[in-house]
Amino acid sequence: MIYDTIAAIATAPGVGAIHVIRLSGPTAIDLADGLFQGANLRQSESHKVHYGHIVHQGEVLDEVLLTVFRAPRTFTAEDVVEISAHGGTYVASRILEALVAVGARLAEPGEFTRRAYLNGRIDLTQAEAIKDIIEAKSASQLSIAQSALSGTLRKQVEAMQSDLLDTIAAIEVHIDYPEYDDAETVTTDLALTKATLLKKAIDQAIESAATGTILREGIKTVIVGTPNVGKSSLLNSLLKEDKAIVTDISGTTRDLIEGEFRLGSLLIRLIDTAGIRETSDTVEKIGIERTKKAMSEADLILLVLDRSRLLTKDDEALLAMTKGRKRILVGNKSDLDVRLELENETIVPVSARNGIGLDKLEAAVKEALRLPQNEDPGRLFANVRHIGKLREASAALGEAIASATSKLPVDMVEIDLKHAWTALGSITGEQATDDLIEALFSKFCLGK
Ligand code: GDP
Repeated sequence: MIYDTIAAIATAPGVGAIHVIRLSGPTAIDLADGLFQGANLRQSESHKVHYGHIVHQGEVLDEVLLTVFRAPRTFTAEDVVEISAHGGTYVASRILEALVAVGARLAEPGEFTRRAYLNGRIDLTQAEAIKDIIEAKSASQLSIAQSALSGTLRKQVEAMQSDLLDTIAAIEVHIDYPEYDDAETVTTDLALTKATLLKKAIDQAIESAATGTILREGIKTVIVGTPNVGKSSLLNSLLKEDKAIVTDISGTTRDLIEGEFRLGSLLIRLIDTAGIRETSDTVEKIGIERTKKAMSEADLILLVLDRSRLLTKDDEALLAMTKGRKRILVGNKSDLDVRLELENETIVPVSARNGIGLDKLEAAVKEALRLPQNEDPGRLFANVRHIGKLREASAALGEAIASATSKLPVDMVEIDLKHAWTALGSITGEQATDDLIEALFSKFCLGK
């Protein structure tokens, strides 16, 4: 398919060391050549960097490095030119303006990735992965996205689809050659076996997707505990451990308290942190209702206890309130004499003040949420859209199984199998509608 040539500043807005201006389309190399002094780009090999100047209407705009990528081995599968200019917003926009003046069009958000998809270089799961890589904030998120980008999800879906297609083909053959007497029973039995196996595999993928979602979107966590057990101290220590956040955002931890931080490879998203700062001295006043609500939304509860003293009534109330939920008992102040032990309960000993024991928390979180301790999370479906489509496929297979079991004509079974096949296909975008594609790519940033 032939498109026009698009241009955008691919780097984040603002001042930095360099800005990259990206061009993609059939005239990308010609347009860049018209503005570039330093080499003849029309004769340039692919994947080659040139040093020179961007000159427009006699004015030197910048000294740049310009890279030529020839189709089809490029990000969009079209001719692509990337201009690395100095990192000023003004100079980058002047270069972009010059490119538009000579015939390029300003790209829409996500349009480069969209072309990569429309030109068949990547599928939808990979396009979504590119967005996830850009937005990743933890090792788990990055690992899931990188794996999706490399096509892991696509391969899983394609394997499921190929299985289904074989069965559909067998049914088609039967419909075309009905003269074989036992063909009907044979194909119905085959459909039943295949659909049952596949439904099982899909249901397992849906089940483990809950883990994928938690890893991808962060663990919704609430920290509770009676006053003075050391909730704020614990949070501060955890925030200090997350070097990235502490160096990125200077100033108080107050803003961070509302947000998220990394615990090893995990991303923790705090909800209802107001309780952490409460100073009132009874659980009643802390607000049982609010705490309950926060706990009901949470994937995980960190219940902080003071190990240097015995349980108070309020500690007991919180223990009872969180019983049976996914919780970790954090035994703070372990640097002091330990007085608190609980039967049949594991307490993770920490000293928030000295930053001791925090490393054990990551393993405890993984255990509490039954997350894989070391396993690669990349195989997990984690995207809500994908999970929705898996559910649709599973439901259609359920119908197929029911029809086959009650010996309905095999072409009825086939309708459901085809439905499952289409649902799976829309995960990779093979069966995607224009609306879906529009919605997905509009979430990208400019220049991507
Ligand atoms: P919060 O009310 O639960 O948020 O508790 P704070 O974090 O404000 O801590 C209450 C008191 O306990 C403060 O005086 C802290 O210095 C002290 N504290 C917190 N963590 C520790 C710890 O690990 N060891 C010791 N010895 N004291 C601690």
